[in-house]
Amino acid sequence: MSGPFLPVKNGSLTVFLCLKVIEFMSIIDYDKYETVIGLEVHAQLLTKTKLFCGDSASFGAEANTHISEITLAYPGTLPKLNRKAVELAIRMGFACHCEIERTNYFARKNYFYPDLPKGYQVSQHTTPICKGGFVPIKTTAGDKKVQLNRIHLEEDAGKSIHDIDDKFTCVDYNRAGVPLIEIVTEPDLSSAEEAFAYVTEIRKLVRHLDVCDGNMEEGSLRCDANISIRLKGEKTLGTKVEVKNLNSIRNVKKAIEFEVKRMIDLVEAGEKIIQQTRSFNADNDTTFALRTKEEANDYRYFPDPDLPPFIVTDEQLQKIMDAMPALPEQLIEKYRSAMQLSEYDARVISEDKGLIEYFGSLTIHTTHYKSAANWLLGPVKSWMNEMAKPISSFPVNPARLAAAIDMVENGKLSFSTATSALLSKMIEEPTKEPMELAIELNLLQDAGSDEVSKWVDEVLAKMPEKVAEYKKGKKGLIGLFMGEVKKVSKGKADPRITTELLNEKLNH
Ligand code: ADP
Ligand code: MG
Repeated sequence: MSGPFLPVKNGSLTVFLCLKVIEFMSIIDYDKYETVIGLEVHAQLLTKTKLFCGDSASFGAEANTHISEITLAYPGTLPKLNRKAVELAIRMGFACHCEIERTNYFARKNYFYPDLPKGYQVSQHTTPICKGGFVPIKTTAGDKKVQLNRIHLEEDAGKSIHDIDDKFTCVDYNRAGVPLIEIVTEPDLSSAEEAFAYVTEIRKLVRHLDVCDGNMEEGSLRCDANISIRLKGEKTLGTKVEVKNLNSIRNVKKAIEFEVKRMIDLVEAGEKIIQQTRSFNADNDTTFALRTKEEANDYRYFPDPDLPPFIVTDEQLQKIMDAMPALPEQLIEKYRSAMQLSEYDARVISEDKGLIEYFGSLTIHTTHYKSAANWLLGPVKSWMNEMAKPISSFPVNPARLAAAIDMVENGKLSFSTATSALLSKMIEEPTKEPMELAIELNLLQDAGSDEVSKWVDEVLAKMPEKVAEYKKGKKGLIGLFMGEVKKVSKGKADPRITTELLNEKLNH
């Protein structure tokens, strides 16, 4: 017999059961542990040119076409700092509530690798341009401000390509020298869900600020996850493992989930966690070791003698601050308090730059803010989904859409007619005024519709139980409501308008 079974002559059943109980009790209690995560997110800045020369920084060009002598580090070449990259880094710093460093310098991080033409990477070692700060996130566990350690500027390396030639690894230097910011959190995240929410928020922010395109598949946003575990209540941090180059938000979550379980299983098996750099295998959602701490590089950082320190002035900071768009968190606050939108609507609009802009214009032309949000997130969003197009391609301009919204609010036509017949026509003929189209299509309600609306309200207010039953699915009750409206209006209510209004009021 193997494992916990002991050879016993008598009472073997009792012993067997006892051992089963012990085995059951030793099932791992994962809840004893807590997870500690710190994330390092690299974001490629949306500059036209590289961090220290005029080579194009764009993605997807033919290999090795954006490679001047400076990118290739020919002897005698000198780097020159890209002002726009500094501005974008500060922009992100403002959005994350960081303190901005005024006296900055660059350091050389020395290591040898084929994709690094200079033999060192220029980075900010001791003076990151942004210090501290936080990013607010929302999870099922509640609201949290994820504390940042720093945001610093650095240049990207080239790209080694292992799969286009059988015998050789090829190198593309187009990416070498492209400007990045690295956003580093404190070890302040405590679950895969929080990490997911944080990277989602970062991607939203960089896109909102035009700092980075946020495209994780193309590698313009990449994440390294540092993960450790400890017993709940423990104060000191556990030994961390770093999972490199996660290229989707889902993979960040999956890598953390896998690592946490792997580490707890190790500790429970009496083994020690070793500090490692690991990589994620998206084919089977596991991680594997790349190198251990003993093999870690000593980068021999020192200030780059070719790059003088750069000073950020008050005037520069003011200019960048003045050009900042309102942040999503500020917009949500404004939509909720000044415009009375629901939390949900406010969030959905604030998540899409195009929607923010369109809604902004819409609310210049109409003060019916809630209706404007309903139109935008209802029929307009359906159009976007159906056509798979962004709001910037929506043919109807905000002024005309606002006019249609006001027509409904003023009782000229019903919401359902406006968002179906009229809106389709407006999309077909976006240069015509909605009133003109409504007349053409004979959609306007006769003068009585305001009165009918009052009768309908009166009837529905009188029969709350029936309304509740209808809403639960007893749709046949519509006949009863129709009859009542006919009665209270003494037969004056137009049945077509009555049906339309009843449907609208009962179903919205
Ligand atoms: P390194 O020098 O290995 O890059 P840093 O101290 O610069 O380490 O931290 C890198 C990231 O790892 C930061 O986001 C930090 O918050 C996080 N981190 C550091 N120690 C731990 C730990 N024990 N557990 C989880 N995350 C950690
Ligand atoms: Mg690191």
